Amino acid sequence: VWSAVPAGPPDPILGVTEAWKADKDPRKINLGVGAYRDENGKPYVLNAVKKAEELLVQQNPDKEYLPITGLPEFTQAAAKLAYGEDSTPLKESSIAVAQSISGTGALRIGGAFLARFYPHSKTIYLPTPSWGNHTPVFRDSGLEVKNYRYFDKKTVGLDFEGLKEDLKNMPEKSIVLLHACAHNPTGVDPTPEQWKEISDIVKEKSLFPFFDMAYQGFASGSTSRDAFAVRHFVSEGHQIALSQSFAKNMGLYGERVGLFSLITANPEERARVDSQLKIVIRPMYSNPPLHGARIASTILRNQDLYGLWESEVKHMAGRIIDMRHRLRDNLVNLNTPGDWSHITRQIGMFSFTGLTTPQTKALAEKAHIYMTADGRISMAGLNASNIDYFSESVSKAVKG
Ligand code: PMP
Repeated sequence: VWSAVPAGPPDPILGVTEAWKADKDPRKINLGVGAYRDENGKPYVLNAVKKAEELLVQQNPDKEYLPITGLPEFTQAAAKLAYGEDSTPLKESSIAVAQSISGTGALRIGGAFLARFYPHSKTIYLPTPSWGNHTPVFRDSGLEVKNYRYFDKKTVGLDFEGLKEDLKNMPEKSIVLLHACAHNPTGVDPTPEQWKEISDIVKEKSLFPFFDMAYQGFASGSTSRDAFAVRHFVSEGHQIALSQSFAKNMGLYGERVGLFSLITANPEERARVDSQLKIVIRPMYSNPPLHGARIASTILRNQDLYGLWESEVKHMAGRIIDMRHRLRDNLVNLNTPGDWSHITRQIGMFSFTGLTTPQTKALAEKAHIYMTADGRISMAGLNASNIDYFSESVSKAVKG
């Protein structure tokens, strides 16, 4: 039956981990994986998560199905985290919310809802480059995917002029995807001033902004600072769509905890949108998973656990920022050709190093260091034990 099914290409990111696993050298480093690692290079379960789980065990809750749009305590608390407690549409009950299968699921619900109901366009514009899964998620949701300029290879920074020009040239009312903070894969974010200009152009062109916020708190260590763009757009009256993920900031990767939300004009419109979100979700997976949403909602609603969580998010972000400084200083001290200031200007889990594909290949073959071919590294894979070896190897690779 399946003789005509062609073999698909392997996932470019997961392939990096496969190659790393097969390497037997003790110095090997995996910088492909987008998950936080602690000072010893190990996966990290947050203490706030462990404590929340202890509380949950004591409460001995049942395992009944959740409603289609999820655990209400979770969805309310997660929306408050993103929009801020003073958010006007939140206070007015005009934000439609649905718990999702992490960030990916939120993007997919949003894509499917927009494909079905957004009346003005079926085209979504993504930054170049963007997270590798954005294109297939939105294409499979029924949208046409196009791109806008974002990254400037020359400066290894934001191509702000190109970005503005492309936004201005989009057909009015097109959908535009924006990374709220810690842009993946580049680590390059607009400044608050630049976000204000972007918001103005989005308004002039009546574009529909869809924010992907997969790293709230992970960029700067502060959940409110990282929500600047989202909150600024909302305060400017944009009716945004938003995807949230608790994979990175709570380390709940495999628990699949997320939220899709959509700002509507008023509670009556919200109720109609809510009813259609349920109709979109029901045939996809019926209702979302329970355990992770309970963990996140326990943390978000308990003052002590919230404080502990905030300090742990700050610690994770701080460790990554520290590694950025050490990497840049090492590369400069080793007289590595080039300007490495972008390493500390970039933010979040990833850094676009500017290494070329042949250099990344040489690093894998000669130094047992694995990263994606575009030169993206997960900063979380670096620690006190491997940062010097990594810097020396990069310096050698660049010098040729
Ligand atoms: N958006 C971006 C920009 C991401 O980097 C990721 C995770 N790599 C996601 C969404 C979705 O992740 P998850 O489904 O695990 O929440």
